[in-house]
Amino acid sequence: MTNPTRQRIIIVGGGTAGWIAAASLARFLPVQRYAVTLVESDEIGIVGVGEATIPQIRLLNAALGIDEYAFMRATQATYKLGIEFAGWGTQNSRYMHAFGTVGRPTGQVPFHHFWLRGARLGETAPLDAYAPNAQAGWANRFAKPDGGELAYAFHFDASLYATFLRNWAETRGVTRIEGRIVAVGRDQETGNVSDVQLENGQSVAGDLFIDCSGFRGLLIEGALETGYDDWSHWLPCDRALAVPCASSAELTPYTRSTAHTAGWQWRIPLQHRIGNGHVYCSAQISDDQAAAVLLANLDGVPLADPRPIRFTTGRRRQFWNRNVVAIGLAAGFLEPLESTSIHMVQSAIERVIRYLPNGPLQAADIAAYNIETGFEWERVRDFIILHYHVNDRPEPFWRECASMAVPQSLSDKIALFRANGRITRFNDELFAEVGWLQVLVGQGIIPQGYHPLVDAHSDKDIRELLSLLRQVIGRQVGTLPDHATFIAQHCPSGTY
Ligand SMILES: Cc1cc2nc3c(=O)[nH]c(=O)nc-3n(C[C@H](O)[C@H](O)[C@H](O)COP(=O)(O)OP(=O)(O)OC[C@H]3O[C@@H](n4cnc5c(N)ncnc54)[C@H](O)[C@@H]3O)c2cc1C
Repeated sequence: MTNPTRQRIIIVGGGTAGWIAAASLARFLPVQRYAVTLVESDEIGIVGVGEATIPQIRLLNAALGIDEYAFMRATQATYKLGIEFAGWGTQNSRYMHAFGTVGRPTGQVPFHHFWLRGARLGETAPLDAYAPNAQAGWANRFAKPDGGELAYAFHFDASLYATFLRNWAETRGVTRIEGRIVAVGRDQETGNVSDVQLENGQSVAGDLFIDCSGFRGLLIEGALETGYDDWSHWLPCDRALAVPCASSAELTPYTRSTAHTAGWQWRIPLQHRIGNGHVYCSAQISDDQAAAVLLANLDGVPLADPRPIRFTTGRRRQFWNRNVVAIGLAAGFLEPLESTSIHMVQSAIERVIRYLPNGPLQAADIAAYNIETGFEWERVRDFIILHYHVNDRPEPFWRECASMAVPQSLSDKIALFRANGRITRFNDELFAEVGWLQVLVGQGIIPQGYHPLVDAHSDKDIRELLSLLRQVIGRQVGTLPDHATFIAQHCPSGTY
């Protein structure tokens, strides 16, 4: 028997966003007060990409009480220590945006100022020589932190991940309804969404709707016409081709992003295959050219034909409009250069829980939710633009990216770093100083100065500090097992 006082939360869509939302709501909302229903259509399916994550996903796993090895086995997952950027700053450059630390705590002045001074003294080791994650990554080694040396995330099969979370959510009370939504009902008086209507005639009524319907934005755009801020003047790539290929010899514990003539290619190693995709700007190269570039740069034989995906980078004008909250691709699109979208699903649902209505919807709650979410999106957007804007590649696409006007918030950040190597993290922006540092340096910016307090140390002290750190990291990494061996021992999927 249903309890008429329960609030009805309807999630539209069963991709990564829908099932993360469902699992999180099932975990945190009392079942006596909330009924969570998810509607999805197997016939439409999910976008099926989105296979690289950042370390915050471990907080989600911990919150849900998910056993990491069980999750890894179920999703053919591998570990991820960072992202290699090949050919981004210049055609031959290569750097790692590694998770975790760079250097070690050095009082009030961040470590990289010591590294900058060292460079003036003739120390040639690159920044990543001081990043344990980068060194472990380059050496294809991995072990779970014992005392917190390595920060890590995962690569996983997106379809298996949705299935895994679905099982988790369904066993904890989420009701799943299969069917294609063909119409969205509105309350005549309030204008709120009242129900979604399925092809088979069923109506699913709710109080709060979470739109996880993917690029379509069935409710947020289709029904409510919320509007979209187009960011493609800053991020002009608008298409992707995705293709899996057979695994290569070494199981690398990092994502690779390789810059091409008018875009870039991802490489995500899983236990049973490698996920690949070419993100490109259709104004600069044709689909056929893009497919040829993708297929020419695979490590193994392709396991399917390249699958096209189109997008417009940007965000909904409001993420929460009336009684609809858009999460995942329904909320907007930022290309997956830094594997941020799944995290933004996770943070959005945390925020929904924080602003959960208590009775009638409050305009102030909705406004606060939209401000917070907008800030998160804009700062991630800036970080992505940085990779394109600061480059020394010759092709027209890259020259245009280098000369474009970027958002003020980004040009301020670049100017601050260029002068004296300073990086400021504002409010809750996602990427910490150490993330910005690695990309700013990796793309080719070396600050003109460094913090004056570093000059309180002698040349000898600086050299010794740097040398000692390199030795310590080298020793630590040398004790780690091979990534593939670690997985084979702890969480093999069976076909590996
Ligand atoms: C090329 C590309 C690469 C990406 N790589 C990464 C990455 O490496 N890391 C990362 O974090 N993110 C990545 N992302 C983003 C990531 O894929 C998404 O954030 C994530 O998969 C969430 O998608 P979704 O659930 O919003 O949408 P979808 O997976 O598209 O799910 C939409 C759901 O809505 C349902 N639906 C739609 N219409 C109807 C209807 N009429 N009736 C009933 N059901 C309906 C569908 O059946 C489906 O269940 C990438 C995205 C793209 C495009």
